[in-house]
Amino acid sequence: MTAPIIRHLTDLRACTKGWHRAEETIGVVPTMGALHDGHLSLVAAAKAACDRVIVTIFVNPKQFNQSTDLDNYPRTEEEDARKLARFEVDAIYVPDVMQIYPEGFATNVSVGGMTDVLCGAHRRGHFDGVATVVTKLFTQTSADKAFFGEKDFQQLMVVRRLARDLDLGVEVVGCPTIREEDGLAMSSRNLLLSDRARVNASRLIEIMEDVVGQLGTGADFAPLQAKALTRLAAAGFTDIDYFELRACDTLALLARPSAPARLFAAAWLAGVRLIDNIDIPVPD
Ligand code: AMP
Repeated sequence: MTAPIIRHLTDLRACTKGWHRAEETIGVVPTMGALHDGHLSLVAAAKAACDRVIVTIFVNPKQFNQSTDLDNYPRTEEEDARKLARFEVDAIYVPDVMQIYPEGFATNVSVGGMTDVLCGAHRRGHFDGVATVVTKLFTQTSADKAFFGEKDFQQLMVVRRLARDLDLGVEVVGCPTIREEDGLAMSSRNLLLSDRARVNASRLIEIMEDVVGQLGTGADFAPLQAKALTRLAAAGFTDIDYFELRACDTLALLARPSAPARLFAAAWLAGVRLIDNIDIPVPD
């Protein structure tokens, strides 16, 4: 059975009030739609952990720093609802812009420090947009738990920080990245890749895994990074926003994986920006 699609905050509140009265826990899975198995893994995690599950679908204009990117973002509401049917979620919240940013909206949620690097350095205002909409979605859904993908690791950290800093009472749960058979991290943006670009796209994770393998043998990162950039260029990646080794907890740059670390990359392929990150086992 397809879940009810709720478009207005008052209808959403009517549901959540009843659920809270019955002492049921509420899980929320915030998405921008064009759902794939990565999103659905978050829904499965939410179903396993909560009595009630709300999936939100909102293409948030505040987190896009290029209007063409916002215009081109895939929108597939009917298909999304069909994909969610087998999970028996309790509500699909699809607010229009006025439900989130009503007339005169003037508040900005900005998380300091960790948003200055990686995607924050390359997409000005992006994380303010994310932090603002996530705060709204947390308060509108009054969720107890919220499920986010490690695919967007920096975003996961930003959301955890704001939930703690603002005492939102939401537990932020991180879920592992789901990949295509060839290793490419699933992403709604993959739909925008041409057939040829799609073949080359998996070179990103392949090259990242090679680097992680060599880091495991004690190699320094700098020469591996230089070689990786050359290999990415040869695979057709035009602009490489970053290819960096950073500490998992602070996102500080590292020269070698001396603390729990991750390799982070963002690169453009045929006009599509791909991002990925992987964990690095700490050498013995
Ligand atoms: P988006 O619709 O791209 O804003 O993503 C919504 C949520 O799904 C975010 O928490 C993402 O991190 C998560 N997500 C996107 N792609 C994946 C993936 N391949 N594996 C796991 N989670 C994902």
